[in-house]
Amino acid sequence: MSDIDIAQANEQSEMKPIQEIGSMVGLSPDELEPYGRSKAKLTLAAIKRLKSKPLGKLVLVTSINPTPAGEGKSTVTIGLGDALRLRKQNAVIALREPSLGPVMGMKGGATGGGYSQVVPMEDINLHFTGDMHALTTAVDTLAALIDNHLQQGNQLNLDPRRIQWRRVLDINDRALRHVTIGLGGTTSGVPRETEFDITVASELMAILCLADSLGDLKRRIAKIVIGYTYDRKPVTVADLGVTGAIAMLLKDAVKPNLVQTLAHTPALIHGGPFANIAHGCNSIIATRAALEMGDIALTEAGFGADLGGEKFMDITAPALGKTPDAVVIVATVRALKYNGGQKLADLKAENLAALESGFANLKRHIHNMKRYGVPVIVGINEFTSDTPAEIKLLVELCEQEGTTAIPADVWGKGGQGGLALADALLEALKQPANFQPLYANTDAVKDKINTIVTQIYGGASVDYDHKAELALRTIAKNGWADLPICMAKTQYSFSDNAKALGAPSGFTINVRDVTPRLGAGFLVVMTGTVLTMPGLPKQPAALNMDVSDDGVITGLF
Ligand code: ADP
Repeated sequence: MSDIDIAQANEQSEMKPIQEIGSMVGLSPDELEPYGRSKAKLTLAAIKRLKSKPLGKLVLVTSINPTPAGEGKSTVTIGLGDALRLRKQNAVIALREPSLGPVMGMKGGATGGGYSQVVPMEDINLHFTGDMHALTTAVDTLAALIDNHLQQGNQLNLDPRRIQWRRVLDINDRALRHVTIGLGGTTSGVPRETEFDITVASELMAILCLADSLGDLKRRIAKIVIGYTYDRKPVTVADLGVTGAIAMLLKDAVKPNLVQTLAHTPALIHGGPFANIAHGCNSIIATRAALEMGDIALTEAGFGADLGGEKFMDITAPALGKTPDAVVIVATVRALKYNGGQKLADLKAENLAALESGFANLKRHIHNMKRYGVPVIVGINEFTSDTPAEIKLLVELCEQEGTTAIPADVWGKGGQGGLALADALLEALKQPANFQPLYANTDAVKDKINTIVTQIYGGASVDYDHKAELALRTIAKNGWADLPICMAKTQYSFSDNAKALGAPSGFTINVRDVTPRLGAGFLVVMTGTVLTMPGLPKQPAALNMDVSDDGVITGLF
């Protein structure tokens, strides 16, 4: 059965009213704003009330570098939450909202898979509670206000060639990467070149995910640098006078969404920056609420531990005010064999040599996560094609690194398939965590980048394009150097070359640009050829999708 078949069978017969799910974690019906029967937003009053509660333990789920073979981070996070509940633990899950880009493209949704899913999966993967649309509208409203400012006399002296703020769409649309706007004469605006990003790459998405309240959201929006004047002075949203309007458009999007897993574990799904071009973690409002409502909060960071994992530790955790108590690295035999050189078509065949060679990828991620001083375990997401000899070898290889690795079949069996992993996690949570950040924000910008490249990626050096050097000068001149670093890099490799699998070393990372994101509170470092507006593949997933006359969706994966 496909993910959607399993989800739909459950949705018709088994989903509980969302108020019942809320009551499991102490939320009264008044503290929920229902969106239909099975989705709700937490009210701002509920978020405020929860702030007085003690925090539970925080578990970060991350993984090896993604491959076309599939890793299953969300699937394991959800299955682990269900397994912990079976062990009578008050576990709450906090995940990102899917973007329509990957849904229509090729990666698929972000609601897990098999018997470890959050539901209603169609709603969550499509328009959900409208957060993505609100963000898109807010970003584009700001863009329209900027262009209107140019049209109406440009009192702020904004240089149209130095406007930083871009329009967005939540879909992969390569044709909009570079556009010319304002054509058509004096009544149709000031002509200028600009670009579109995907919504999940926008600074406003990062702000939504890093703000701890509506007030903080507003303060961060005010600080966004929208562009520079002709004499190169930064211009902010506050200067434009529209902070209130932009924050107002996000008044509901700022509230976390509550849903349930197939086994009725409460799950907050809120905010969804990509981890290759943004910081890759769901909102801290949702993670904090999960920590306040539950004794154990499980959250996930996008792509491999080199991207989402590192950014969780160095950007999200300080904003959250809580560092992880344990890390689970998800790995699959298939993906490690692929890293070890086995072809995609042959992944079902046992190949211990490829597994051992591809283990280098997992080994580096284990080492990297351990360096933060937090207990680390490996969750082996079992596929039906894995052989007992392969699982045994992978467990042994992890043991040689002093790391417990536990196979889990949460995809096939739900929480029941993750009990051993849950037990190992509970053991890990008993160990003390002694968090050590990777760098100090006060380090020089190039030193911070160099630390990430050499200590996390295993690279040797960093090269800066002329544009990046100029950007660093602007950052220094304006006193913005003390911000954390948000690397934008391919998710497929430790390096900036998507084809370098396994654990490459000795490489140079090429930095094209460094963009200050003052509202988010980080510096985005663009490396290699990574794009902030992806394209659709030759065979987009959209080709398989349909909706029947009575509203039943098929082919959503
Ligand atoms: P990630 O979070 O790493 O991107 P997901 O959990 O979203 O991965 O899973 C991606 C896809 O892989 C889903 O369609 C899911 O059904 C499938 N998948 C995950 N784990 C397994 C498994 N153990 N066996 C078969 N398919 C799986």
